[in-house]
Amino acid sequence: TSVNYPQEFKGFAINDPSKWDNPKLVSYEPKKFGPHDLDIEIECCGICASELFSLKNDWSDQPLACLSSSYGPKTQVVGHEIVGKIVAKGTDVTMYEVGQRVGLGAQAASCLKCSRCMNNNEQYCPHAVGTYCSRYEDGYVSQGGYASHVRALDHFCFPIPDSIESKFVGPLMCGGLTVYSPIKRNIEDVKGVPHVAIIGIGGLGHMAIMISKAMGATVTAFSRNYDKKEDALKMGADHFVATQLDKGWTEAYRDQFDLILNCASSTKYLPINDLLPCLKVNKRFISVGLPHKEEQLDLKPIQFFSNGCTIGSSKLGTRQEAIELLDLAAKHDIKPWIQEIPICEEGVHEGLTKLDKGDVKYRFVLTDFHRFFNT
Ligand code: NDP
Ligand code: ZN
Repeated sequence: TSVNYPQEFKGFAINDPSKWDNPKLVSYEPKKFGPHDLDIEIECCGICASELFSLKNDWSDQPLACLSSSYGPKTQVVGHEIVGKIVAKGTDVTMYEVGQRVGLGAQAASCLKCSRCMNNNEQYCPHAVGTYCSRYEDGYVSQGGYASHVRALDHFCFPIPDSIESKFVGPLMCGGLTVYSPIKRNIEDVKGVPHVAIIGIGGLGHMAIMISKAMGATVTAFSRNYDKKEDALKMGADHFVATQLDKGWTEAYRDQFDLILNCASSTKYLPINDLLPCLKVNKRFISVGLPHKEEQLDLKPIQFFSNGCTIGSSKLGTRQEAIELLDLAAKHDIKPWIQEIPICEEGVHEGLTKLDKGDVKYRFVLTDFHRFFNT
């Protein structure tokens, strides 16, 4: 299947959330090429649980944004753990050359001039545009990385150290960066060895264990049962708790953690009232897990009274943090635990349906893009 680039990109798309698990190959018009844009010819792309929520439209009360886009495709391609090579650059791009390998995560643009952008918080820019399912000012809805190419602002494309293979970089671009940012922001000022708790050992959670260890922390992994115990210890966890089966862990871990990082995709079995007393004084429970829009946190205020703890959230990470993470990964040889699937209609279907069932160890990466797209 060859691509008529640069007029068209090809990718796997849906236009109906009830068919979320069956994206079909389509051709589509890319967004207008801006002076700071890069075109990336994609080599591989991870599959993140956020894509399940987006394809099923589980985070929104509105129909899929692409259906009402004023220009561009009326179909939606997802994918935001992208690695590839620059094949074109806008007239004002000075930080990259054509041919360079770069990574792109879940954010493709922001204004780069508001106070958030100017203070290393561009992921919280009010004009932030996601890599997929997100509307640009001109009406185009962004199309992601289960595709031949992707177009994004240079600031959000990251240079990759030569020593890391592309298939291991993909998952770091969204999942890895999303956990690196809150881990760094919450443990860098801790005196002595920080103790981090990671809740939910999936794509994000397993990278959070490895990243926390590489940053010098003691790590306790929390999972619903014992299925992932051996793996979590191999990833570097020092302790393991099966929240649904172990007894007395709140007492055992009281006043222990400098950070609790919640990476679970649902609050259904999240024992938040038992976790909060495990924080040290004034420390934080940070959620990166983003469940279905109808899910809630069932909080008992008495449980977060005795240690003055804080409950918060974190979104993606900055360019600077992405570059730091890639450097950390190169130095500590951090390799996400991946399962590779050659990209094709059946492959995309398999990855999405297995991830939906929790049948993944621990991140799917779609590969072989050059072979499939003839790029
Ligand atoms: P995975 O499906 O790979 O992992 C999620 C983990 O959550 C599972 O491994 C499991 O851990 C736990 N889990 C699954 N189902 C339930 C349930 N019903 N109740 C409680 N826990 C459950 O997902 P990802 O790691 O790809 O993504 C995790 C979350 O992070 C998603 O909500 C995703 O949308 C969000 N996300 C947020 C970002 C941000 O910027 N904040 C960026 C990227 C993703 P275990 O078996 O160990 O209990
Ligand atoms: Zn993601």
